[in-house]
Amino acid sequence: MFETIVALATPPLKSALALIRLSGDNVFEVVSKCFSKDLTKVNKRDIHFGFIHDEDKSIDQVVLLTYVKPHSFTGENSVEIISHGSMLIVNQIIKLLLKSGARMAANGEFSSRAFLNGKIDLVQAEAINDMINATTEEAKDLSMLALKGENSKLFKPIKDQIGEILASIEVNIDYPEYEDIEETSKEKVITVCSDIVKKLDELIKQGEKDKIYKDGIKIAIVGKPNVGKSSMFNVLLKESKAIVTPIAGTTRDVLEGQISINGVPTQLFDTAGIHDSNDQIEQIGINKAKDIINKADLVIHVIDDNDIDMEIATFIKDKKHIDVYNKADLIKDKKEDAIYVSALNNDVKPLINKIIEVMNIGEVSAKPSFNNARQLGLLKNMVNNLEKAIIDAKNDEPIDLISVSIMLAYNSALDLLGENNKNDLSDEIFSRFCVGK
Ligand code: GDP
Repeated sequence: MFETIVALATPPLKSALALIRLSGDNVFEVVSKCFSKDLTKVNKRDIHFGFIHDEDKSIDQVVLLTYVKPHSFTGENSVEIISHGSMLIVNQIIKLLLKSGARMAANGEFSSRAFLNGKIDLVQAEAINDMINATTEEAKDLSMLALKGENSKLFKPIKDQIGEILASIEVNIDYPEYEDIEETSKEKVITVCSDIVKKLDELIKQGEKDKIYKDGIKIAIVGKPNVGKSSMFNVLLKESKAIVTPIAGTTRDVLEGQISINGVPTQLFDTAGIHDSNDQIEQIGINKAKDIINKADLVIHVIDDNDIDMEIATFIKDKKHIDVYNKADLIKDKKEDAIYVSALNNDVKPLINKIIEVMNIGEVSAKPSFNNARQLGLLKNMVNNLEKAIIDAKNDEPIDLISVSIMLAYNSALDLLGENNKNDLSDEIFSRFCVGK
């Protein structure tokens, strides 16, 4: 029995309209208590127009959508109320629904119910959250493929293949006396498992490549004071977010901006110059800059003459970094293999090209891919266990031992789509969702 849950699905801000969502076995009884129409006899999917009322007092004029189980997102009886978008109205309606028997939904509880009711698998559920959080079109498109079930469709035959080889071994172990059962030879284990590992390796390769579109990258701009870091930050951001002045130490705090580099969500940090300073506030900025450098995936070291700042060079030597000469308009003798840009002239293309090269940003594939840490972890788990089974088979180890490794791989395959221990998994994953989703 699922309790009736309620949540505001749209942002808690003044807007033209707001959407309040409810789901649960008694949802029609709950909503009927405060709606001008009896909803307990509704059809499959319906639209209603009427008033939400608190006893004799009308609260709002609303449009209400009803979905009868299983024809809803959650697979349960559901209602969506489209009210006017004043927070005062929304709060009054929700309060009334709580009084009528609903309870507030937890983060992701609607999606979690859709998963528990078998409307979507875990990969599709994760895709919903990824879609909502995507900041580039490329990241959104990847999530869309997963939401449509393309990932699951791609993976199911592999899962079945692991299941089949496991079942054929188990049959041999459990019924050794039946002569008409074909014996699963160790050669067969090696051939089948090797084939599966090859397919899984392909999936992992694809996922690792696409991961960057979801996770994004962090880039820190560092350099001596006055080399043009803030100017470059602004040009990269295509807006004036940082203060650009010729005064050394102007950028005392770390500034942050978001850009998309070929569809990869990129967090850009403009840092204070790293140098000795007696100014206490500036020193805090310098320490913060060092902190950001440590966390960055890539450091852009801006230089404005041919003399590299050794303090910075030493600090970033073990990090992935690009040395870039700014103020190219003032530099006469250019080195052949160095990168020159001019923030003043809006000319930073060579730097962007270098970032794409260093970070290995390719074209986003239009293929479904398993690209979050959970999914990639499980795929790798499958590979490790199947490889162990192959080695054991080659070493002529007992078939029972081989079967244990294949069983572990099969469990990871079930976990990937959320077919194992549904309740255990969902809490952790759905807690990352928004309320109302
Ligand atoms: P920061 O201290 O490293 O952040 O440097 P700023 O961005 O504040 O720039 C310092 C000075 O260099 C300013 O006067 C900028 O106008 C100037 N500057 C920045 N980029 C260029 C460039 O490409 N060419 C020239 N000639 N001047 C630049």
